[in-house]
Amino acid sequence: MVIATKNKGKSAEIKATLRDFPVLVKDLNDFGPIPEPVEDGETFEENAYKKASFTARILGLPTLADDSGLEVEALGGVPGVHSARYAGPGATDLQNNAKLLDALSGQANRKARFCCVLSLAVPSGAALTYEAFCEGVIIDSPRGDKGFGYDPLFFYPPLGKTFAEMSMEEKLSVSHRGLALRELEKEFKQVLLWLQLRHAEEETRRGAGGMCVKE
Ligand code: IMP
Repeated sequence: MVIATKNKGKSAEIKATLRDFPVLVKDLNDFGPIPEPVEDGETFEENAYKKASFTARILGLPTLADDSGLEVEALGGVPGVHSARYAGPGATDLQNNAKLLDALSGQANRKARFCCVLSLAVPSGAALTYEAFCEGVIIDSPRGDKGFGYDPLFFYPPLGKTFAEMSMEEKLSVSHRGLALRELEKEFKQVLLWLQLRHAEEETRRGAGGMCVKE
């Protein structure tokens, strides 16, 4: 299974959750350069499916894509699907975080939530979808040095820490991505069967082969 991302933070979190599954998991850093899908969907679900199905078709392998982002209540849900490029194309995490603090300066309502949609697609285009959210508040200045993206600004009240102050395991136990992965994990036996059936259909169409399952 390929994870359709080059983002090392996302990839590490997904690989850690899937480590006990009998499937060999790779991400886009394990392949040579391949074309990138245009992420022009208006929802996380549209973009997750675009990334998963586009990559699955190009590589001929089942592909799991995560589209995620931060929705800030006082900003009407912004940056949302534009989270990765909030401060402009190619923006760094630091630039995105600085823009967010700027946009919220003097704002009393700091409520925000992370959203994650996972799409698992096969080359024929068929896909499974999982979605989850995590609610928190945006603090005034960054705290912690772990994680990625908006983690240093996203404070999770039940644990009294920002995501950047949590270990990866702790973050995964409460985060949007952790919860969506847990949904996938719950049905992993059926998911594996679904993948094997789709693979058999594709092989029948092409004329031979068998699925490679890690021992
Ligand atoms: P995507 O690669 O288009 O899904 O962009 C997701 C962007 O949302 C990332 O680049 C981060 O800025 C933000 N994001 C998503 N998930 C997280 C998270 O778990 N922590 C911090 N930022 C996140």
